[in-house]
Amino acid sequence: MKPETETYTRADVFKGGPGLCAYAFRAALYCPACARGLDFGPGPFDWLTFCDSESVPSPVFFGESDAAEFCDTCSGFLYGADGAEENTDGGPGAGPFDWER
Ligand SMILES: [Zn+2]
Repeated sequence: MKPETETYTRADVFKGGPGLCAYAFRAALYCPACARGLDFGPGPFDWLTFCDSESVPSPVFFGESDAAEFCDTCSGFLYGADGAEENTDGGPGAGPFDWER
């Protein structure tokens, strides 16, 4: 359990994790590389600020979108569209594991 006085640094913001694909900041999306160049102050940040994507870039994990999303700074592809179509749930007979039946 984290004490309420706990603070977070820029390093915590960019700690990342599995599935990290973008950062949301002030209604825009950025690739992790560009997010590091954003000006959001040196920190430290308290919990409420750390969780507010208006104040601190907020990591996006396994992003899903009907439309392709691009980095606001370098226009690099982030996620969405084509990637979502590949992610099929497997209808009847679609799985490769039916051969044992
Ligand atoms: Zn970028």
